[in-house]
Amino acid sequence: MTDITDPQLRPRYSGVATFFRTPLRDSAEGVDIAVVGVPFDGGATHRTGARHGPRAVREQTTMIRRVNQATGVAPFDLARVADLGDAWVERPFELEGALREIEVVFAAIRAEGAATLAIGGDHSVSLPILRAIARSGPLGLVHVDAHCDTGDDYLGSRFHHGAPFRRAVEEGLIDPKRAIQIGIRGSLNHRDMWDFSRESGMRVVTIEEFDDLGWRKVAEEAVRVVGPGPAYLSFDIDSLDPAFAPGTGTPEAGGLTTREAQRLLRALAPLDLVGADVVEVSPPFDPSGATALAAATIAFEALCLIAAGRVRERA
Ligand code: MN
Ligand code: MN
Repeated sequence: MTDITDPQLRPRYSGVATFFRTPLRDSAEGVDIAVVGVPFDGGATHRTGARHGPRAVREQTTMIRRVNQATGVAPFDLARVADLGDAWVERPFELEGALREIEVVFAAIRAEGAATLAIGGDHSVSLPILRAIARSGPLGLVHVDAHCDTGDDYLGSRFHHGAPFRRAVEEGLIDPKRAIQIGIRGSLNHRDMWDFSRESGMRVVTIEEFDDLGWRKVAEEAVRVVGPGPAYLSFDIDSLDPAFAPGTGTPEAGGLTTREAQRLLRALAPLDLVGADVVEVSPPFDPSGATALAAATIAFEALCLIAAGRVRERA
């Protein structure tokens, strides 16, 4: 039997599925970009299941090859990419403790100098990730989502998947003046539900504005708003229309196409992305695997952005 040590060179249907068929590692030493699963959905306010997201996305990333045909970026040639396994939580029924456990994992990876691409999990996991990586000051933010996720207390908890970016601003992890939220839509519990976004200075691009401007102009706006300096990309799969991504906890009709999202992300190349996440894939609502494939595809675009950025940084 041929000994092929690089999993990417083996037949894609074979072996244990890791993210993008990268080597599985238990430490980020010698790793430039760590892809990390976060199988936690204790912050979901309605339909759960995102805890199963990382495993489903790992499986679908076996569909992803080595080179981005649109941009020419070959992330695995530019950077040492590894699957760091899961930031799994020992005590998942204690929400705030669970978020602290997730933070510890990402802080350890950051201490090794690796950038992180996280695969959730519900959107509450973005907060501990930001706590771990925004150690030297607030980051810019590109947040693609049907929802602003800047809500407040819900059913007695300040921490849930509808609130991470409010908490991140309050904790000084995100600079709201360098933050843009894209794809916002859907019905609300009350008219002012996302007031915090606008009042704190975030740029909110509703799906109607996205429709009017198109992906290119919105990407230009994102580059203008976020500007130079470190930034984070957070991509909620429910930003996509349920036709493309039905397997998610809080679907909202009338969303982005996968292709619009791909083109939007590729046009963010000027940004200095220090990390990214793709969240809210809920496999129990995704029998065809299409949502996990969309997430794998978006995660590949994010990986290409981070890899190309790190090369720029070294130059
Ligand atoms: Mn959402
Ligand atoms: Mn969200």
